[in-house]
Amino acid sequence: MVQQELLVTFALIWLGLSVGSFMLFQRGEDAARKRRLWPAYTIFSNTVIGAMLIYMQPPTLMLLGLLAFMVPLTWLTIRATKFCSRCARATRTPFFLKPATKCSHCQKSFND
Ligand SMILES: [Zn+2]
Repeated sequence: MVQQELLVTFALIWLGLSVGSFMLFQRGEDAARKRRLWPAYTIFSNTVIGAMLIYMQPPTLMLLGLLAFMVPLTWLTIRATKFCSRCARATRTPFFLKPATKCSHCQKSFND
């Protein structure tokens, strides 16, 4: 029973994060605020995923491997998302590629 409640709690947090991400980063015109909030949001959501992994109690070695994998992944996710100063929309590149140099929506260069 307690375990089910925990799963529901995780599901609700996950839903909240998804809705929050949409409201904060897909909508709104304030690129500076998005840039400021993005690292905190990414770290927080990955911490939630980490907590879920710990809760599922995989073999210790697997757990450590996954957590060790998540730290650079979090950093790369933060780095791979840019917010345009003209249209304030997010440009994402796959985490294994270099960060984008221009906005994928309005083509404005990020280096101006
Ligand atoms: Zn743009």
